[in-house]
Amino acid sequence: MTQDQWGTIRDELHQTMGANSFQSWIEPLKFVDAEAGIARFRVPTNFFGNYVSQTYGDMILAKITRFNPSIRRVTFDADTTSQSAAATPVSKAPQAEISEIAAPAVAVKPASLSDSLPGSPLDKRFTFDTFVVGKPNELAHAAARRVAEGGPVTFNPLFLYGGVGLGKTHLMHAIAWELRTHQPHLNVLNLSAEQFMYRFVQALRDRKMMDFKELFRSVDVLMVDDVQFIAGKDSTQEEFFHTFNALVDQHKQIIISADRAPDEIKDLENRIRSRLQSGLVVDLHPTDYELRLGILQAKSEMYARMYPGLEVERGILEFLAARIVSNVRILEGALTRLFAFASLVGKPISMDLTQECLTDILRVSERKVSIEEIQRKVADHYLIRHSDLVGPKRVRTFARPRQIAMYLCKQLTTRSLPEIGRHFGGRDHTTVMHGVRRIEELRKQDAQIAEDVELLRRSLEA
Ligand code: ADP
Ligand code: MG
Repeated sequence: MTQDQWGTIRDELHQTMGANSFQSWIEPLKFVDAEAGIARFRVPTNFFGNYVSQTYGDMILAKITRFNPSIRRVTFDADTTSQSAAATPVSKAPQAEISEIAAPAVAVKPASLSDSLPGSPLDKRFTFDTFVVGKPNELAHAAARRVAEGGPVTFNPLFLYGGVGLGKTHLMHAIAWELRTHQPHLNVLNLSAEQFMYRFVQALRDRKMMDFKELFRSVDVLMVDDVQFIAGKDSTQEEFFHTFNALVDQHKQIIISADRAPDEIKDLENRIRSRLQSGLVVDLHPTDYELRLGILQAKSEMYARMYPGLEVERGILEFLAARIVSNVRILEGALTRLFAFASLVGKPISMDLTQECLTDILRVSERKVSIEEIQRKVADHYLIRHSDLVGPKRVRTFARPRQIAMYLCKQLTTRSLPEIGRHFGGRDHTTVMHGVRRIEELRKQDAQIAEDVELLRRSLEA
């Protein structure tokens, strides 16, 4: 990678992550060099490096591999010695890069197995243990588990698809870990479709197609991540098709992921499409509230161990689960930042701190639910008039739905307590707060209320 390419990547990051985070975390990075599969950056402090690595490492790596697929790792090291290393930016001629790409040669002896196979390194965090199962992903999870048992091949291929950040790569790595542990004799190869193409092109160029074919046909389990990538790339598709058929003929398990269903991938040859559909096709649905909460709980327990003395209350997790409706990666990023921020400023994780630290994320995922909409839904649900919902009467038939509506306004909108109060006949913010707390308690004691709240929240989120 060149400084120019890093410049392009920086611009892209600027567009996608918002000015604040960009200025705090990306701008200070100094690109040093990219050698032996590692892109190195200089950072101001160790803490900074850890934080950037955890929060943005994957994203940065993904962007770098577009320019230079041989890069497998990014490091962020603090400059402990002097400025010398950062002083001379390394700029390489394209020719040099090509030879750099060629450096990690494909293992010539396929028989010498897994470690020498040109796959992606497995992420230690992506195991079945750390995968939180909920309605939206239970089928995909069950299918992955089955394949990971490594028994007789029942469905081939297993085709997992779903939007970005919903756990496809996580599940594939989990399968690979499981097989590695319990079926160490199996030759498992996990790589992205992009790497497949890259290896293929490299083999063509180096006239090593025989080695390439032999290598790919010698695996017992082949996993190809993000297969949509080969759409429109004709010769790669062709080769993929042959590899695929050869393995299926030998009853070797194949696992494929994509960001959409086989019939929605454009520019894919029909024979490949139908091959992909011939096994089990399962999708990962967008997360729902429960799954998000489950994931947040699991991850925050992990962080609480990493940052002794820091913890997040359930209320804040519920708030985040309701408000960050995008993918799991964003959810994780939010939590990572929250812990890092709190430990940096030395404060407990409060609601205020959460909102301050995550403004940009919360703004993006702000839903369009309005106070009026909430009031209408709640009034309809309890068969009362809107005027009674916001009016002064204190009988339970009106007061309870009113508190539920206030609670939902607090959870689902960004309006402040005084603003919410104004929409409820000019009530004081302490009244709203009382209402919100009351429902928080009642949800734990009264199954009917819990169910009503759940139902309303779902229909408002839909
Ligand atoms: P995809 O490949 O579908 O784009 P990933 O597998 O890379 O998504 O997941 C993005 C991040 O979210 C990863 O850090 C992963 O561990 C996490 N993640 C996704 N789904 C879950 C889940 N159900 N439980 C725990 N972590 C999850
Ligand atoms: Mg992925």
